[in-house]
Amino acid sequence: MTKAIFVTREIPEVGIQMLKEKGYAVDVYPKDAPISQKELIKYLKKKPYDAVLSLLTDQIDAKVLESAPSVKIYANYATGYDNIDVVEATKRGITVTNTPAPLSTEAVAEHTFALILSLAARIVEADESVRRGKFKGWSPMHFIGTDLLGKTLGLIGAGRIGERVAFYAKGFGLKIIYTDIVRNERIEKECGAVFCASPEEVLQKADIVSLHVPLLDSTRHLINENRLRLMKPTSFLVNTSRGAVIDEKALEKALREKQIGGAALDVFEFEPKTVPGLTKLQNIILTPHIASASVDARNQMAEITAQNIIDYFEGTTPKHVVNAF
Ligand code: NAD
Repeated sequence: MTKAIFVTREIPEVGIQMLKEKGYAVDVYPKDAPISQKELIKYLKKKPYDAVLSLLTDQIDAKVLESAPSVKIYANYATGYDNIDVVEATKRGITVTNTPAPLSTEAVAEHTFALILSLAARIVEADESVRRGKFKGWSPMHFIGTDLLGKTLGLIGAGRIGERVAFYAKGFGLKIIYTDIVRNERIEKECGAVFCASPEEVLQKADIVSLHVPLLDSTRHLINENRLRLMKPTSFLVNTSRGAVIDEKALEKALREKQIGGAALDVFEFEPKTVPGLTKLQNIILTPHIASASVDARNQMAEITAQNIIDYFEGTTPKHVVNAF
């Protein structure tokens, strides 16, 4: 029988085509906005869908799972899957997949490095000053930045993305330290990365701290007021992982009080909102969750998401299952 797939928002056409070529009936949510949970449930009740292609903006919890007993797989179009209650899905025998696409990993690592370079060279502040007509000629003391060569990059989380950031950092002459619940021997061997037993050690020693952990109970507010106090007053904090890994209110305070040198965020605790005061600060760079937004990365993510669904219905275990049955 034809499989029915509900796609919660438009994604690159290549993925939709792959599903259609298999003869599946594909319904795409027509609005270019995140679907509310209420509306998602409404759609899922309309038809006995076999699969849902979901996005990180969809809250797939017990209520949603309950509303759609026919759905056998939620294929998330994202590397992170903290928007899905995987424990609840597993209990119900529902498969959950993600898209750790190699090109998305690369795009996020590149974006992370773009943020590091922009912080160090004060690119955003300098650009703004030229636009505002404040450039009155070369000056020996304008926008003095930070050299990267010889500084220490501290990674918290050294999986796929953290590892790629380490390789870029090596090219820029940065020393690398990292902490993770699993040792990454490749970056130790190939980038000279030094393992630290705790996030505290990384925060104390690094000039730039970059976060690459998934959002879990154990990583929520991993960067809090106390840990921010451990950072050097000149150091930078970069987050392209998930917003809630940082207590954003505490970060706003630390930046306002110039406790640390600066920060760059691609992700926010209360996305798409930011905590009051954050956007008023000069010592922060903000991008709207676009780290993986390159043409190649997004096309590959769409292909992988579609392939996960196809594999499931063709009786092969999808390559990117995240729940352990
Ligand atoms: P990954 O699973 O390859 O790596 C995550 C690493 O974090 C692993 O090595 C894991 O051992 C480590 N880790 C887990 N819990 C930890 C803890 N408590 N302390 C220290 N280390 C811990 O994932 P990845 O592909 O590198 O992606 C990392 C995260 O980046 C994703 O989970 C996602 O949330 C985020 N992400 C963001 C974007 C974006 O657009 N900004 C895009 C892709 C991924």
